Amino acid sequence: MSKLDIEGVGMTSQRARDRLIQELEQKSIKHSGILNVMRKIPRHLFMDTAFATRAYEDTALPIGHGQTISQPYTVAKMTELLLEGSTPEYVLEIGTGSGYQAAVLGAFVKELHTVEIIEPLYRRSRDLLYDLGYRNIRTHRSDGNWGWAQAAPYDAIIATAAPDEVPSELLGQLKIGGKLVIPVGKQNSAQMLTVVEKTGENSWDKKMAEAVQFVPFV
Ligand code: SAH
Repeated sequence: MSKLDIEGVGMTSQRARDRLIQELEQKSIKHSGILNVMRKIPRHLFMDTAFATRAYEDTALPIGHGQTISQPYTVAKMTELLLEGSTPEYVLEIGTGSGYQAAVLGAFVKELHTVEIIEPLYRRSRDLLYDLGYRNIRTHRSDGNWGWAQAAPYDAIIATAAPDEVPSELLGQLKIGGKLVIPVGKQNSAQMLTVVEKTGENSWDKKMAEAVQFVPFV
């Protein structure tokens, strides 16, 4: 762990992180717990060093294999939606990517399972999350269209890639009263950040939160 530059300098320093948090507050992220967690997480370690100096800009950045680390605002917003009401204990994330969203969620939930379809991204985030000391995050290489049945049912599921429609498998792995936060829509049209609440074995309550831009579900 000593080889990781967790503190950072200059563009990756605590001052740079504090400025990002101010920006998120201005964009009306209100959950102080989320802001405090994001203030501490070294986002610059979740991307290639070539982009590290931009790590505390509020923007999505490439992480290779045609994928991106989500925009900090979007991470904060989705986490707010997920934690609203009661804090979920058992959570599933689809699309580990860099592992950054997982690290943020890991600070709040009891056990987070996260699945990634691209092998090298899975390996990198698995190793990084371990090196950073997260022991309640379980990474898996798998196709998220099938959720992760081995640890179902979940209190909440979050997807960080956008399918055309909500995969029914994910709804099946939710507890009654649980919720799914997911961007839905085709790549080149507007995607909607959607919150689906499971109200009964076969009933759902769906709400649209806001327009977003995500990479597509593979
Ligand atoms: N949560 C990530 C966002 C990464 S972008 C972060 O904080 O960095 C979305 C990720 O979803 C990509 O890594 C992509 O490979 C992955 N993905 C896309 N389709 C998937 C699928 N069907 N199953 C699992 N992961 C998928």
